[in-house]
Amino acid sequence: MTNETQLRERIVEIGRSLYQRGLSPGSSGNISVRLEDGWLLTPTNSSLGYLDPASVSKLDWKGNLISGAKPSKEYFLHMAVYHARNQSGAIIHLHSSYAAAISCLDDLDPGSCIPPITPYFVMRVGKLPLIPYFRPGDKALAEEIGRHAPKHAAVLLANHGPVVSAPDLDGAMYATEELEETAKLMLLLHGQKVRSLTPAQINQLREQFGADWE
Ligand code: ZN
Repeated sequence: MTNETQLRERIVEIGRSLYQRGLSPGSSGNISVRLEDGWLLTPTNSSLGYLDPASVSKLDWKGNLISGAKPSKEYFLHMAVYHARNQSGAIIHLHSSYAAAISCLDDLDPGSCIPPITPYFVMRVGKLPLIPYFRPGDKALAEEIGRHAPKHAAVLLANHGPVVSAPDLDGAMYATEELEETAKLMLLLHGQKVRSLTPAQINQLREQFGADWE
């Protein structure tokens, strides 16, 4: 089995898992992975719960379809991250409820929509900048993502949802789950006085675990 075949199957497994846990309702959400000769992305109007490995779209680095079904209309936001981050090998974008709810709150800190409330959020996700609202399909979104992606593995699209990258597919799934769970905690804590980690505690995580929080 080639690497690409394995990656196609892993996209299907991860899609099914996210769908079964209610993280990708309807046909929302898309998953991509970097290959040596292009990249794979889940097709447009497809449910992540019922993907077919053979019809996962393969694209080139200009966004042209090489093979498979027509790709997600959100292909350009994935490409913006890959172009800006060589270290990112996979991306998951969801409209998952808790992170999407946070993305609709007013007065978010644009530097990180979620404060450093747990070490796991700091280590697995890192700072989560807010990307301003763009209408669906507006390519200007890519430029805005491209400005933040060199420094940040994950961003939150206003009134929309998270875009999370990692070195590989499983890492992207774990980071996405961590983000969704922390978004849930934030909503549970909403309106209460929250004790975030201190700069010294964050520094420990940076030094000992390479956490990305700058
Ligand atoms: Zn979306």
